[in-house]
Amino acid sequence: MVNYELVTNTPEETFHFSNRLAERLQPGDVLTLEGDLGAGKTTFTKGLAKGLGITRTVNSPTFTIIKEYQGRLPLYHMDVYRLENSEEDLGFDEYFDGEGVTVVEWAHLIKEQLPKNRLIISIKHIGDTMRKITVQPLGERYEQLCEELFS
Ligand code: ADP
Ligand code: MG
Repeated sequence: MVNYELVTNTPEETFHFSNRLAERLQPGDVLTLEGDLGAGKTTFTKGLAKGLGITRTVNSPTFTIIKEYQGRLPLYHMDVYRLENSEEDLGFDEYFDGEGVTVVEWAHLIKEQLPKNRLIISIKHIGDTMRKITVQPLGERYEQLCEELFS
């Protein structure tokens, strides 16, 4: 299994990376984000949104589990941190199979419901403003995407 890694030294660098990734995204793509509170999951999502041509401000959904934004492609931003019962089916599949790009913060909380093929992104705090971003593609589509992105 191939993993890709990069270190960012500022929030802007994280934003820049996800912004660049967004240019390659297609309808139905699913990205899952792992990392502790303050790791940079929402920062990453903001860059993604910018790269998808979304002009509205993306915030961590506090009381909403899913927020939808319109851009070149729709972005479905899920933060399942507050989901009380992870077995609860909120119709995630409709988003995963939809016309937009789905990004899920705290994805492991809905592990059973995630699609088999997806891009797993983990962000780790390694210093004041230093983060290690690990990208693991599951499935051919995402392997291809990573090869292009990291070449
Ligand atoms: P999460 O959604 O994982 O809880 P946020 O993106 O909301 O995290 O918050 C991350 C915080 O860390 C922001 O205040 C951001 O500016 C800061 N930060 C510092 N360095 C980085 C970096 N290299 N990448 C991403 N965020 C960083
Ligand atoms: Mg967040």
